[in-house]
Amino acid sequence: MTVHFPFQNTYAALPANFFARVAPTPVASPRLIKLNRPLALHLGLDPDLLDSPEGAEILSGKRLPDGAEPIAMAYAGHQFGHFVPQLGDGRAILLGEVIDRDGVRRDIQLKGSGPTPFSRRGDGRAALGPVLREYIVSEAMFALGIPTTRSLAAVMSGESVIRETMLPGAVLTRVAASHIRVGTFQYFAAREDTDAVRRLADHVIERHYPRLADHARRYHALLEAVIGRQADLIARWLHIGFIHGVMNTDNTSISGETIDYGPCAFLDHYDPGQVFSSIDEMGRYAYANQPRIALWNLTRLAECLLPLFSDDQEKAIAQAQEILGVFPEKFTAAYQAGLRAKIGLFTTRDGDEALVQDLLKAMAEGKADFTLTFRRLGDAALDAANDGKVRALFADPAAFDEWAARWRKRIADEPQSPAERQAAMHAVNPAFIPRNHRIEAVITAAVANDTAPFEELIKVLAKPFEDRSEFAEYANPPKPEERVCQTFCGT
Ligand code: AMP
Ligand code: MG
Repeated sequence: MTVHFPFQNTYAALPANFFARVAPTPVASPRLIKLNRPLALHLGLDPDLLDSPEGAEILSGKRLPDGAEPIAMAYAGHQFGHFVPQLGDGRAILLGEVIDRDGVRRDIQLKGSGPTPFSRRGDGRAALGPVLREYIVSEAMFALGIPTTRSLAAVMSGESVIRETMLPGAVLTRVAASHIRVGTFQYFAAREDTDAVRRLADHVIERHYPRLADHARRYHALLEAVIGRQADLIARWLHIGFIHGVMNTDNTSISGETIDYGPCAFLDHYDPGQVFSSIDEMGRYAYANQPRIALWNLTRLAECLLPLFSDDQEKAIAQAQEILGVFPEKFTAAYQAGLRAKIGLFTTRDGDEALVQDLLKAMAEGKADFTLTFRRLGDAALDAANDGKVRALFADPAAFDEWAARWRKRIADEPQSPAERQAAMHAVNPAFIPRNHRIEAVITAAVANDTAPFEELIKVLAKPFEDRSEFAEYANPPKPEERVCQTFCGT
């Protein structure tokens, strides 16, 4: 039996300047190291058939499944603030689209599948480490309830890639609501191809925002909708301590999913200025800068849409500014609501924002672990006898005591029982996140041919909100000697 992909492609039917038709370059000897079976089922694929030598060939690009129309998508982008008029999929190839069990159209893309007309310098390949990192973090984000691209499979290519050293090569199969980015709009806007911008906007509306199709000002409504999804997404990132690392406009998805996991990382101790990425020397994409950068990226999207707003450019700019003006409110509302939930508040009161901010301030000053502080605070909500576990996380435990007294007074005004409050807090404050030192350890083992630690980490992160005693050590922050201070793109 051959593997059947129920492709129903739409992007490949767009005008020829939207992409380059290019087939994956076969790899030497593909070996499947991970298949995401639940995701395969969700996409209408047969996991048993995929889990085979033929499946490994397909998931590495060595064999094309029937119905695939392989393309490399064109896009541009601002990288660290500098505009590059042509980037495009330089090492990724979209095989096609399928409709998942929820009726949502999903791209199936191979990453690391060989050069394309858009590869300028690189070899079109990916190393095992970054492939596993993306697999781990994207699936962890999914389990955390955050919009994200997903990972269907990781395949070893049987070839080496040359980076700073020789590394084992691999291919990731990425699944996304779409791979359309702010940079996709920029590609056509930079060429003053307004017809293409309109065509792309119509495609995006149909695919991601179908309710806007009959809107009187559909392109204005589109901008507003994308802003809404990005505001919500970035708030969610901050709630779990996620740092994307490379928030370039080409890494900003129009559908509102987290996309392009490169040097991303999670906070251990809370530090709003934290930067991990080795290429982010100016701290442009630091943890707390992410909302500001999202707005900057959305402003670049708005610029692309101006010709669709009005023939009168000044009018169009005024309209765009008005729409962009809603971002801070939308972001702040989502951010504050999430923070209230993190400290177990069921109601909203004056002073709540200050209460949360004072905790964050104490956490920053006390270098308290971000994830553990909130998780253990849930246990403290159940029983004040658990306070000790929280205060132990602070360099100056007295700072926590002072805050905890105010917090107890505030929650005492709400009717919920301690058990109810703990349950609500544990449902939003994960016990397990993909900690950087764990990811590094897993990659090191996998490069040395041991994928058991990878498998175990995937298992832990699949249920991030459940305390599981057998995995207790995975909740721990790194020991000083394990701490990861920098992450690398390592493409
Ligand atoms: P990224 O850093 O993955 O967001 O990629 C930025 C740009 O560089 C995109 O146009 C990629 O397709 C391209 N790129 C990254 N790595 C490679 C590679 N190994 N070979 C060819 N192009 C690459
Ligand atoms: Mg990218």
